[in-house]
Amino acid sequence: MSIAENIEKIKKEIGAHKTKLIVVSKTQSLEAIQEVLATGHKILGENHVQEMVEKWEVLPRDIEWHMIGHLQSNKVKFIAPFVSLIHSVDSFKLLKEIHKQGKAHNRVLDCLLQVHIAEEETKFGFLHEEIIEMLNKEEWKELNFVNIRGLMAIASNTTNEKQIESEFYEFRSFFEGVKISYFRKNEAFDQLSLGMSSDYKIALENGSTLIRIGSSIFGKREIKPKKPEN
Ligand SMILES: *Cc1c(COP(=O)(O)O)cnc(C)c1O
Repeated sequence: MSIAENIEKIKKEIGAHKTKLIVVSKTQSLEAIQEVLATGHKILGENHVQEMVEKWEVLPRDIEWHMIGHLQSNKVKFIAPFVSLIHSVDSFKLLKEIHKQGKAHNRVLDCLLQVHIAEEETKFGFLHEEIIEMLNKEEWKELNFVNIRGLMAIASNTTNEKQIESEFYEFRSFFEGVKISYFRKNEAFDQLSLGMSSDYKIALENGSTLIRIGSSIFGKREIKPKKPEN
């Protein structure tokens, strides 16, 4: 199927769910991205700052850019002028830097806190207790160029659907708890970024508002050759 057909298929599956599709364009060529834009879809996700900036510079200005990958504090300044949502906030240090760069560019930057839910140790994100600890300290409330819109998570890399379901269910419950405890009066805290190609159908059933889909649209990504070891 073509890129346009794949997008149409996923939008049909989203159906009545109030979920936004983020087309994950990392590693994809400008030609492939032009095929996405030709369908009228203008919401893209990238996981590397440099690649995102390079694409932003040459593509139309009405694209909504989502940063979904691990973000280093010293690189926030490059995306602060244009990024629409940073999904991958995983430390208070990063949140403070986002505030600083938001202030410098006079933009309130929308963010999600990334929660570590997978069994693998290698995935980034806060542990539940780390988020609670940070929110309890209340220093974050002074970061007025940051708008925390919700939470993001990546499931374990497994084909066991039962496990993914239970991870998503637990994540959803955690989201509800955080909302009630810290964002009860803040209607903007309403986003759950959950679901990729392998698990977005389960994510839709668990209240995801943002699914991040790459390979189900473009086909399998080419794996970049590893840098030779010195
Ligand atoms: C690459 C990536 C995706 C998309 O993955 P696919 O399996 O290709 O859909 C989603 N979320 C994050 C954080 C990613 O890095």
